[in-house]
Amino acid sequence: DTTVVHHTYDVLVIGAGGAGLRAAIEARMRGKRVAILSKSLFGKAHTVMAEGGIAASMGNANPRDNWEVHYRDTMRGGKFLNNWRMAELHAKEAPQRVWELETYGALFDRTPEGKISQRNFGGHQFPRLAHVGDRTGLELIRTLQQKIVSLQQEDHARTGDYESDLKVFHEFTVTELFKDGDRIAGAFGYRRPTGEYLCFHAPAVVLATGGIGKSFKVTSNSWEYTGDGHALALRAGARLINMEFVQFHPTGMVWPPSVKGILVTESVRGDGGVLKNSEGERFMFRYIPDVFREQYATSEDEGDRWYEDADNNRRPPELLPRDEVARAINNEVKEGRGSPAGGVYLDIASRRTTEFIRKRLPSMYHQFKELADVDITAEPMEVGPTCHYVMGGVEVDPDTAGTVVPGLFAAGEVAGGMHGSNRLGGNSLSDLLVFGCRAGAGAADYLDGLGTAPAVADHAVDAALAEAEKPFSVRGEENAYTLHQELQQTMNDLVGIIRRADEMEMALKRLAELRDRIPRVGVSGGRAYNPGWHLAMDLRNMLMVSQCIAMAALERQESRGGHTRDDYPAMDENWRRELLNCSLAEGPDGPEVQLEHQPQPAMRSDLFDLFELDELKKYYTGDELGGHRADQG
Ligand code: FAD
Repeated sequence: DTTVVHHTYDVLVIGAGGAGLRAAIEARMRGKRVAILSKSLFGKAHTVMAEGGIAASMGNANPRDNWEVHYRDTMRGGKFLNNWRMAELHAKEAPQRVWELETYGALFDRTPEGKISQRNFGGHQFPRLAHVGDRTGLELIRTLQQKIVSLQQEDHARTGDYESDLKVFHEFTVTELFKDGDRIAGAFGYRRPTGEYLCFHAPAVVLATGGIGKSFKVTSNSWEYTGDGHALALRAGARLINMEFVQFHPTGMVWPPSVKGILVTESVRGDGGVLKNSEGERFMFRYIPDVFREQYATSEDEGDRWYEDADNNRRPPELLPRDEVARAINNEVKEGRGSPAGGVYLDIASRRTTEFIRKRLPSMYHQFKELADVDITAEPMEVGPTCHYVMGGVEVDPDTAGTVVPGLFAAGEVAGGMHGSNRLGGNSLSDLLVFGCRAGAGAADYLDGLGTAPAVADHAVDAALAEAEKPFSVRGEENAYTLHQELQQTMNDLVGIIRRADEMEMALKRLAELRDRIPRVGVSGGRAYNPGWHLAMDLRNMLMVSQCIAMAALERQESRGGHTRDDYPAMDENWRRELLNCSLAEGPDGPEVQLEHQPQPAMRSDLFDLFELDELKKYYTGDELGGHRADQG
């Protein structure tokens, strides 16, 4: 039965992580009828897995913190490639978004005076991460869901129907977006449990689909992160920027093999854990790059004192931004100083009491106890880099979260620009709230200014249906799981943490071969709960996104943040002015990914002046520095 059931809404929010839920709340509060569509169960998104906390300069743990310091840290973390307007809005609005969560019912850990507690994290000058133990994402999602239920109760009182204005369709995967001319008109997809097809008619769509990690073999990401939103945006005519920047989190589990890649939160280091090689050396002191030399401790004693007296000591290099730490671990292992399972040691046991560890890091304690039979209060963990986050994503207007396609918005991990070449820990949860809210408002404003409503064409629905049905009619020459493994291995080995031109050229060749094979993937069985079928559809998205990553990574001939070139090891100030964008263009065999350069807009002068000229000199070309306050007069 291929009947398509139709629904009509004002706004579709695709994704039920923090960005999607915050967008949905905002659009509903502005009087719009909203549907939330999510591939997994309601409440199961990456956001729920977030451990360490939400970065916001509330200044509770150090009153010297403020939005300007947070802004500077974010730009440094991203090596000045960030969209400065996004970084500005993010730094300014994050505290409000955290306090607002309290009004929704969030219960954060407290300082002794009863304020929201804030912890240290890599790249953040002051303790800045609001947290709930190491289960912050759970509290964030719980609270946003609670707010949604309370809005539904209000709707019930008014309309007699809880779901009249805000309805969640969970376990529903969007496979296509529809347009009417240039404008967004709706979306199509299937329900996982039944295989039933639904078509949504709506003039505004917010993409909040999260990341792309499942294109890599070793990843902290879970099954649904196949880059669907990135690919949907491309196919709808939007652009992706910064796709070469993929974050490899320095500390994933490396043993046992079945759990390789699962995240070990940065809070372990924020709370005093240190990295050691097989010789027992705290090796990070050898890896402080020049651009950060003044801000990091040069001796273990100073680094250790910093935990108690941050004003008079510099932070330990274990808390450098993630790209630096991941590269250092990679190098130690390569040079033969790794642990037996191919990682390095992360030791908190010898540095903090059992009671402290179990109170501050309860999930890590259980994770290692249950999955690896390691007691982290007594022994070190073995850890290594894992594909964690994609800085690249849909290009958006910073203020409205709108894309170049009228009616299409994007927020959260699926959007690009905010984090530049490398995201600081804790800056994602705050990003979700700030830009989720802005996307909901942007969609509502767009609707208020809309003339005639766009319509979904029947033939477009027929085409989306035919595309979804296709794998059932192919005589299974190719297997979706085999192709997925090949794709993951290719990305892991050839476009991973350290990159080279010849390897990436090889990757692009293999991706082209995979692209030819994907249409031959056949599936058996019915449409109800058929993971082989789901993967067959996800594959084309993962492939498209992987092509963007490989093409952009090959083009960028420098090393910066999450993009490290063995053949171009230095950061090049001329490349800071260049953004690479991917779009789709019609080729002889259908749509092809095309890559273009676009200039990075120059930073507004009052923001530029927040930095010292000496620091800017490390990133900017001479002719760009003329406008700085220190250079005038
Ligand atoms: P997600 O929370 O990833 O949600 C995406 C949603 O989209 C899901 O509901 C999914 O089902 C849905 N979806 C995807 N494709 C489709 C489709 N085709 N159709 C319908 N729905 C779809 N960041 C921090 O700031 N601090 C931390 O401490 C932290 N810890 C982390 C720990 C782990 C283990 C991981 C994996 C990440 C962590 N991060 C952290 C990063 C952060 O959690 C994510 O970047 C963030 O949660 C992404 O939120 P989002 O709302 O953009 O998307």
